[in-house]
Amino acid sequence: MEFRDLKKQYQLHKKEINEAIQAVLESTNFISGNQVKELERKLAEYVGAKHCITCANGTDALQLALMAWEIEPQDAVFVPDFTFFSSGEVVPLVGAVPVFVDIDRETYNIDLDSLKRAIEYVLHNTKLRPRVIVVVDLFGQPARYQEIREIAKEYDLLILEDAAQAFGGMIGEKKTCSFGDISTTSFFPAKPLGCYGDGGAVFTDDDVWAERLRSLCVHGKGSDKYDNIRIGMNSRLDTMQAAVLLQKLQFFEEEVEACNRVAAKYDERLSDAVKIPVVLDNMRSSWAQYTICLKDGEERERVTAQLQADGIPSAVYYRKPMHRQKAFADWSIEAVSCENTEYICERCLSLPFHPYMEDAEINAVCESIRKALG
Ligand SMILES: *Cc1c(COP(=O)(O)O)cnc(C)c1O
Repeated sequence: MEFRDLKKQYQLHKKEINEAIQAVLESTNFISGNQVKELERKLAEYVGAKHCITCANGTDALQLALMAWEIEPQDAVFVPDFTFFSSGEVVPLVGAVPVFVDIDRETYNIDLDSLKRAIEYVLHNTKLRPRVIVVVDLFGQPARYQEIREIAKEYDLLILEDAAQAFGGMIGEKKTCSFGDISTTSFFPAKPLGCYGDGGAVFTDDDVWAERLRSLCVHGKGSDKYDNIRIGMNSRLDTMQAAVLLQKLQFFEEEVEACNRVAAKYDERLSDAVKIPVVLDNMRSSWAQYTICLKDGEERERVTAQLQADGIPSAVYYRKPMHRQKAFADWSIEAVSCENTEYICERCLSLPFHPYMEDAEINAVCESIRKALG
């Protein structure tokens, strides 16, 4: 069994994906081919954002957003303590200060009280200027944007939605990547909408930011690539990846639906044995991960060992809170304690998950977990 099986999808759609790649080979427009513009149009339409700017990966997408806002040293950027490293890494990359915020134990997303306390701490105890909240839609589920938007208004902060794990997630009728002032996603192969290499995108409704983003990802170009009006990056999605994504976008909704069916089956078979993931009312997850929470670290070890003995892969996302990462030692300030993150880091376990999982596989995972729990 594979943790996230990418082979099944390729085998199922091999013909059209091969043709799309072949067309790029024939055209030899490997960078900035027509497929890139077409993909940006389709992604913007899917998400419900005015602008989509594709780039080289989800980490660059976050950095480009901070650069477009001219975030600089002495600026505080609030980041959940429980997320992939990139969400915080980009903050020191632009010279600013990451302030880690605790999460909610139920949804694994940013905790609103902790966020408010962190902002108040920075305002009253430091000389930093609060500027941005990086809001992560962890494991596929959107964060609580209605309340986060109110906090952002109260303190005059920008919202950067990191939807790297949640492309296809929804609140009501609205899709992820439409909730931030700027929103970003990743097309890393194992993400909900993955390409066949690295890729990412930035979304916004703001015309001025969009123009800056287009410039920043091509060496800070002005009227063309050889007229440079700011310091930028070299961060483009190549034509091959765009061609693959255009094909995959056509069956993406079906895949998200299939993921939700797999999640429902896991829920049904596990709800009486372990703490299953909580998806809030009115929200749709796109299920980058199906992550359960065990009683304690010892129980997690027991379950992991049993799964391994039964030939079933599993993974711990994430074992270490951001504020404990050595890389941030000289950069971040501690504004609030993050007990929920510590709690979850010790107990969380992500199970094999993808849209093409068969009933027999789901059953095998659940039986192995039940065996471990006795
Ligand atoms: C994967 C991921 C990223 C970074 O995406 P890359 O394309 O790998 O650079 C950023 N944030 C989160 C939450 C992620 O899971």
